[in-house]
Amino acid sequence: MIYKFVNFPIIIEVGNNILSEFEKVVHQNNLHFENPIIISGKTSGDIIKKYEFAEKYEHYVFEEGTIEEISALRRKIVEGRYDLIIACGGGRVIDIGKYLAMDILIPVLSVPTLLSSDAIASPISILRVNNTYRSIGTTMPVGVVVEMSIIKNSPKKYILSGLGDLLSNVSASYDWVLASRERGEKMDNFSRMLAHFPAMNILNSCENYSSIIDEKFLEDLAYGLILSGIAMNIAHSSRPASGSEHNISHALDRLLGFGSVLHGLQAGFATILTTFLQGQKKEHEKILELYDKFGFPTKLNEIGIDEVTFFEALKMAPKIRERYTILNKYDVNKIINVANKLYL
Ligand SMILES: [Zn+2]
Repeated sequence: MIYKFVNFPIIIEVGNNILSEFEKVVHQNNLHFENPIIISGKTSGDIIKKYEFAEKYEHYVFEEGTIEEISALRRKIVEGRYDLIIACGGGRVIDIGKYLAMDILIPVLSVPTLLSSDAIASPISILRVNNTYRSIGTTMPVGVVVEMSIIKNSPKKYILSGLGDLLSNVSASYDWVLASRERGEKMDNFSRMLAHFPAMNILNSCENYSSIIDEKFLEDLAYGLILSGIAMNIAHSSRPASGSEHNISHALDRLLGFGSVLHGLQAGFATILTTFLQGQKKEHEKILELYDKFGFPTKLNEIGIDEVTFFEALKMAPKIRERYTILNKYDVNKIINVANKLYL
């Protein structure tokens, strides 16, 4: 018999007032530590400070998150013999936490204050090195604790970004099947389903969500992003959650500079086009319906990307990395034509 051994987070907690009972929750889940360190950004640091556990533990607040600052923090963690990193913040802080955890060989607990991407549980970090951004394979968080009262009060654009990053799995899943069928690429159906189903769940539940801060919606979003991260870990690749729509997002990063438009907004925006090209008509329409309901940008002027840059990104996208997708099947002029109709 052949089995696959995979790492899962031992803690997945999503709900209200979890952080008020942080130590109880963590110990109940059998995560024991003696000398933890919290790392956060400035805004997330102010949010976390209100909780009792944060007063007790060492707390490092990032200034810029440069590679020099990360190196200095690495020395501090090693010399201070810290045995757990509690990364509180958005994707940037959690990415640094995962990177340091891998490098120092200690666990990292992810405590997102924003649900802006699947970085909250993925084994991949985007780090800024010498003014460019690099994607690095890192470590899976030992746990993910999502305090719903913090997420509910977070700026809407970050929630929309998380939604876009999750729904992009609908397009990524199709591309993986396509690459498997047409290029013989190895496909792991379990991880593909793990990323695809929560995205479909959100699409199929559209009518039940009253607003973008509907508790059930945020819960579905949080679990969906966590499952996406786990799916990437099982697949040993970002494939389950990153296909043609992420190719377009990566091309935009190159043209606009990383972070100038939120990652999930870019990926979710490109998903409108890729699901259309893929012939996923029902999914494409449902995505537009949900975007309309929540105010997700569906036109170029709404997302704030000019037409020339976006079309240039569409030209770059099929070759931006070795990943066969729907974009490789169409002539670029045809893709631009379709984009013209959808986004202008
Ligand atoms: Zn993504």
